[in-house]
Amino acid sequence: MHNDDGRIQVRGARVHNLKSLNVDIPRNEVVVFTGVSGSGKSSLAFGTLYAEAQHRYLDSISPYARRLIEQIEKPDVDAIEGLPPAVGLHQRRGAPSVRSSVGSITTLSNSLRMLYSRAGDYPEGQGIIYADGFSANTPEGACDECDGIGKVFDTQAQLLVPDDTLTIREGAVAAWPGAWQGKNLVRVLLSLDIDVDVPWHTLPKKTQDWILYSDETPQVPVYRSYNLEQTRQALTEGEPASYNGKFISARRHVLDTFKTSQKEKIKQRIARFLSITSCPTCQGKKLKAKALNVTLDRLDIIDFSRLPLHDVDRKLKKLRHAVADDASERAQVIRNITSDVVDRIKPIIALGLDYLSLDRSTTTVSAGELQRLRLATQLKSNLFGVVFVMDEPSAGLHPRDVESLVHALHDITKAGNSLLVVEHNPYVIKGANWVVDVGPRAGTNGGDLVFSGPAEQLASVTHSSTADFVFNNKTLVNRARRSATGTLSLKNVTRNNVKKANVEIPLGVMTAVTGVSGSGKSSLISQALVELVRDGLGGTHVQNEDELSEASLLSSDNYIDDEEIAEKGAIEKGLDDISRLVVVDQSSIGRTPRSTLATYTGMFDQIRRLFADTDEAKSCNYDAGHFSFNVIKGRCPNCEGLGVVSVELLFMPSVYSPCTVCHGKRFKDDVLEIKYKEHSIADVLALTVDEAQHVFDDNKAVLRGLETLIKVGLGYLTLGQSATELSGGEAQRIKLATELKRAQNSNTLYVLDEPTTGLHLSDIALLMTHLSSLVDRGNTVVMVEHNMKVAAACDYVIDIGPGAGGSGGQVVAHGTPEDVARNKESATAPFLTEACR
Ligand code: ADP
Ligand code: ADP
Ligand code: ZN
Ligand code: ZN
Repeated sequence: MHNDDGRIQVRGARVHNLKSLNVDIPRNEVVVFTGVSGSGKSSLAFGTLYAEAQHRYLDSISPYARRLIEQIEKPDVDAIEGLPPAVGLHQRRGAPSVRSSVGSITTLSNSLRMLYSRAGDYPEGQGIIYADGFSANTPEGACDECDGIGKVFDTQAQLLVPDDTLTIREGAVAAWPGAWQGKNLVRVLLSLDIDVDVPWHTLPKKTQDWILYSDETPQVPVYRSYNLEQTRQALTEGEPASYNGKFISARRHVLDTFKTSQKEKIKQRIARFLSITSCPTCQGKKLKAKALNVTLDRLDIIDFSRLPLHDVDRKLKKLRHAVADDASERAQVIRNITSDVVDRIKPIIALGLDYLSLDRSTTTVSAGELQRLRLATQLKSNLFGVVFVMDEPSAGLHPRDVESLVHALHDITKAGNSLLVVEHNPYVIKGANWVVDVGPRAGTNGGDLVFSGPAEQLASVTHSSTADFVFNNKTLVNRARRSATGTLSLKNVTRNNVKKANVEIPLGVMTAVTGVSGSGKSSLISQALVELVRDGLGGTHVQNEDELSEASLLSSDNYIDDEEIAEKGAIEKGLDDISRLVVVDQSSIGRTPRSTLATYTGMFDQIRRLFADTDEAKSCNYDAGHFSFNVIKGRCPNCEGLGVVSVELLFMPSVYSPCTVCHGKRFKDDVLEIKYKEHSIADVLALTVDEAQHVFDDNKAVLRGLETLIKVGLGYLTLGQSATELSGGEAQRIKLATELKRAQNSNTLYVLDEPTTGLHLSDIALLMTHLSSLVDRGNTVVMVEHNMKVAAACDYVIDIGPGAGGSGGQVVAHGTPEDVARNKESATAPFLTEACR
């Protein structure tokens, strides 16, 4: 039963660390949840409210769903009253798994296809094309040559045979597999009367071409250890063969393997032999010629999709204006569709995303941008009476644009929706109607309600860390300023919107790179700087945990020719002063629940050995493998060691429910009976890092791993926390912790991408202390950052801009924070001035 006093009433919430928490929060207003990392704000906003709302939502929409919901764990809470019945939900974590584009997730591409279909300029005599005919994902639209991929994959002789002085037996055909299959191909060639013991370049061109490119796959009798002469003789004499071997050309092998292999590593190996070129038929535009012939304002639909949204906006308004007084049906269609699109682009522009284009792949859009994009889409969805739950929508946003974010949030609630937002940004907190502060500290020292009320009243709460930093201007960090010991000079850097920029990065100090969203910070720092230094150091001495993803493998970015590299800029001086490069970004540290905090940091190997060394384990003949949930012998067979089983829902992202056999413990019962200091292996995985410190206080190696995690403020995470549940900021801090553990030498360049994301100001203070210690040891730290208190505490600031996209890409100001604060051109200056006070 809903009581209707306009409040959501939570009673007895006990999810994770919450201590039977009670709280009343207003409906239809902007409510911000604050607190230090690990205090329990997500457990309340997501674990309790979101989870309950999801339950009720699923329950309300379909009886089919009801059966599934019973499998999904209900949040541990006594009662929640007044929760709006319908919910529009934001998936909290995890990158989008399917490849999509800005146009598809906003559905603006649909409208554009409609517009081209109904109102485009067709060539004389060509019939109208339905909207589907403008989509490369449909048979009507897709280019026949490349099946709508836009690229054609092929091989080239130089790639397949990099060294033509080698013989085939010595491995001239580098693209061929090694091991048994490689030997087999050599034998097959011998049986085909081809000499495999002469340098490749001496073979007739016809033979070379056949070996490399043939589509034939003849099967021939082969002889295991014969040379050409012996093989010839054996064949003439009809000697019984060792076996029948099959031939496959290098090209077929490469293309087939690339197409069918499921393994990332194999794909990577094989990609080296591929050349990827734009489809010659559609010029990479993916569509059939008849669709590309249709234009608006002389642009085909693909070129139109490549325009930044502010240009799309301008062009559509122009188009609408041109037919304002036209009574034709076509004009009516143009007016309807353009008005609708312009209306929907408006909030996207207001949220500072006007530099994006419709064709931009979501894999290259940051999590913060993606969330704002979804937010903008929701603003126009005409939903009301729903509750939205969001995680740090301000991530990636320059302070200049936070104000429009706050406006957008209020627009959602004005339409009759409730908004629950987990945030650290001071402007968002101050701009909220209501603040729920959870704490006072992390883990078992948190989980209580510190404050719940109108934002401005938080200022007078005395025991809230949030109040101290956000309202009472507590100092973030007092660090001694340092001066540069050298300079790394980049010349003519060109990347995305950055055009021939010259940048000087001071060495031996901490530098913040600032600028509005889309100004080119990542292009300059995370891309150009990193690549140039990496190339300069020759690929060695570089540590980056990330695997090349399939998406990036397929994108043409990985196949850059030499000419392009020359155009990308160069390091002019300073490289000699750098011996190592460490990139700590926010990309996920694992894609499956198989990767956990303990496995990623390497602690789990040691812990498993401790279990295997117990007398109990020895008497059962258990080795360390039995204590791994990735090895068959010890793990629960039902969930294969995941502890959860995924429940596929047709209409929503799939959800996980606890395994009914092991109840989330991941292991077989007899393995769970083995105890180390009274803890089973599952108990250990459930410990927080803080708690584990006491259990493993006599094991140096494990302890060291734990301590480094505590140092970066992650003591509240559990060892079994799956990597997929970590936020980008947490993933980044884990990488940082791993790095801090090994950092001793100086002359390392650390490149970080918004390291403060997901951090409360008190956690940021801790992080700054650790980054400072890296600098104190003679290293260089460069970070892209939006938090002005952090920028003000750096030794140096480089401001990029002045605007986003085409109006950005230049160094606007550089120098000490005070220098940059005085710059009149810089969008950052006013905010930096405030933070420098
Ligand atoms: P916040 O959002 O304030 O950073 P969380 O709500 O994520 O904090 O975490 C609060 C506490 O709950 C922490 O001690 C954390 O380790 C614990 N916790 C979070 N997620 C899980 C989980 N999936 N299983 C068990 N404990 C968890
Ligand atoms: P920032 O890091 O300052 O937010 P970025 O460097 O990400 O800015 O983006 C600068 C400009 O380059 C923007 O106009 C953006 O749309 C464009 N851009 C960034 N990455 C890509 C990409 N992978 N492909 C095409 N354009 C990109
Ligand atoms: Zn094509
Ligand atoms: Zn199980």
